[in-house]
Amino acid sequence: MKLTFLGAAGEVTGSCYLVETERARFLVDCGMFQGGQDAARKNRQAFDFDPGSLEFVTLTHAHIDHSGLLPRLCAQGFRGPVYATAATCDLLSVMLPDAAHIQEKEAEHANYTRRRERRRAARDTAPLYTVAQAQSALGRLRPLAYEQDFEAASGVRLHFRDAGHILGSASIELRAGTGARARSVVFSGDLGQPGHPIVRDPAPVPEADVLLVESTYGNRLHKGMPETLGELTHAIIDTLGRKGGNVIVPAFSVGRTQDLLFLLADLTRQGRLPELDIYVDSPMAAAATEITLKHRELFDPEAAATLRWFAKRNGPPRVNFVEDVAESIRLNDLKGGALIISASGMCDAGRIKYHLKYNLGRPECTVLITGFQAAGTLGRRLVDGAKLVKIFGQEIPVRADIYTIGGLSAHADQAGLLHWLKQFRRAPEHTYVVHGESGNAMALAEKIRAELGWRATLPERGESVTA
Ligand SMILES: [Zn+2]
Repeated sequence: MKLTFLGAAGEVTGSCYLVETERARFLVDCGMFQGGQDAARKNRQAFDFDPGSLEFVTLTHAHIDHSGLLPRLCAQGFRGPVYATAATCDLLSVMLPDAAHIQEKEAEHANYTRRRERRRAARDTAPLYTVAQAQSALGRLRPLAYEQDFEAASGVRLHFRDAGHILGSASIELRAGTGARARSVVFSGDLGQPGHPIVRDPAPVPEADVLLVESTYGNRLHKGMPETLGELTHAIIDTLGRKGGNVIVPAFSVGRTQDLLFLLADLTRQGRLPELDIYVDSPMAAAATEITLKHRELFDPEAAATLRWFAKRNGPPRVNFVEDVAESIRLNDLKGGALIISASGMCDAGRIKYHLKYNLGRPECTVLITGFQAAGTLGRRLVDGAKLVKIFGQEIPVRADIYTIGGLSAHADQAGLLHWLKQFRRAPEHTYVVHGESGNAMALAEKIRAELGWRATLPERGESVTA
């Protein structure tokens, strides 16, 4: 088997691996590069292979940095099936059209600016792909169950195991060849932190000849869940106890919003939170929550118990999904007692900007930051302690409290990754550390060599190896 690292090598985004056996050629993940101009350039580069020559694609999970170039692959001639878990297929049905919509809007904006500046010489920018192309790519999805062998091409078998990262996430074991020539390659996918809300802990994999393991937090330890929940309850109780206090929570619509809803319900069930009025102001979050509830067979026992309690309860929390814009605007009038979860998670786009505009200037309110905030985003400026920010061209003083809650990451930390690795029954012949910025990946590779005695290296983008 030949394995080529086409993305997520020395960086976190753009996961894509080309696998070639004697009889088949296919991709594991087809992710978008994210963050900055260089990412935009890489997304538009020609594929390093002929998309029409691929027999199939298989995806570890629905996050756009693992799935987001699929519509482009299809538009450029890929005609085969795309194998993923049922929950991943369902999430992609809302995420890929949404990603396409953002691409269309960005292209529209770039062309509008160019025309306004009368830069006639330049050609119009076409979107990376359109909503219609994303819809058409969805037609290629084929759901596969966890823990079952599936022959995806002649002599190539796939086996999905729960990766505990987001709903539907999988580690993929790939087997090719027979008898003495049989080989197995395991792609960890993104691995979750044990104890993460809703999903089960990552399932162990017994063995692999070659292993690819993610390293997003390969050099870090997360804050523990009890401490994280303590911070969360303190921030909420403190704010809602003030006259006029609202809690504003920027959160990604898929994953983080559902995690928060479950944690808030569970804390209410335990009597640790007062009566809550929760507003989820994002149509995409409503759709993702519906998909989550459709897949309760994937819940861990705590989430299943919380959901049973929630369905039977006769009281708080009240959860309101805000769909239309008029209703969203009415939330601006709420002066106190509301917890508003809205997207985007880094405060750069979407309805969250309105909620910040109306609440940031009020010292009785709180903004709860629950996720990573990239440099250059409004969320990052808030975390960094800005006293004045610009929203829709208007300067808004920051008088609200800004709380940063660590420990809700959907990625395993160094200890979580090592725990998963230690459950292999024998050392893989080779371990490739991927999906991490080079410092993090290097730290994990060193740890793997020192603690497990395995051969572990960092591949480079474009590198091919024999597996
Ligand atoms: Zn992910």
